[in-house]
Amino acid sequence: MKRVLLKLSGEALAGEKKTGFDEETVLGVARQIQKVAEEGTQVGIVIGGGNFWRGRTSETINRNKADQIGMLATVMNCIYVSDICRFVGLKTEIYTPFACGAFTKLYSKDRVEEDFDHGKIIFFAGGTGHPYFSTDTATVLRAVEIEADAILLAKAVDGIYDSDPKVNPDAKKYEKVSIQEVIDKKLAAVDLTASIMCMEQKMPMLVFGLEEKDSIINTVHGKFNGTEVTV
Ligand code: UDP
Repeated sequence: MKRVLLKLSGEALAGEKKTGFDEETVLGVARQIQKVAEEGTQVGIVIGGGNFWRGRTSETINRNKADQIGMLATVMNCIYVSDICRFVGLKTEIYTPFACGAFTKLYSKDRVEEDFDHGKIIFFAGGTGHPYFSTDTATVLRAVEIEADAILLAKAVDGIYDSDPKVNPDAKKYEKVSIQEVIDKKLAAVDLTASIMCMEQKMPMLVFGLEEKDSIINTVHGKFNGTEVTV
């Protein structure tokens, strides 16, 4: 793959703690990114914010404000993961759809392309910049904009199941499933808005477990053990 958009959930950064950061987990992710980048794959990254905050969980404060906090949580996550990527020797850049002073660069497709040309790993922080959206939507949006070959969806579960494997021990994992079926059966790989956009823009997705050893590298190498979402 020449170019991929890797989506990491916020919770995936937290390891077993489920909240905040787990440095060992993120170091492992950074080393995998380094390997695929050295082999010539350009990597864009979107990170969720659920290890800190989810807009819809607050019933007290205004949803717009709650979502702003969520978007800022994704900025913190990107700063953290970006710097650990730098620690392992990668060059990185963080873009946001809103100004964050000197912390990030304001998103511009042209500048992103220049940075990819300079061999940088690109972080798309701050989601879409709008409330009522999610980092799933931001993932598909940026993947389409940068013409990624595929979205690599690294999750806590190792693929898409016909029912929740945490609840149903007989849940069956799909090796391959169409995005239409994901939508029709509400299989919840990504949220509905993002799924529809994937379908309209014909953006394939590879869903796999982040906990599995070398799963990012294996997915880029085609030794894939998760669920392929076809378009
Ligand atoms: N968020 C938002 N707009 C976006 C992306 C994210 O408002 O374009 C907010 C929203 O509050 C969300 C939080 O940021 O709950 C964290 O993003 P993530 O996609 O991880 O949320 P989740 O799907 O886990 O709620």
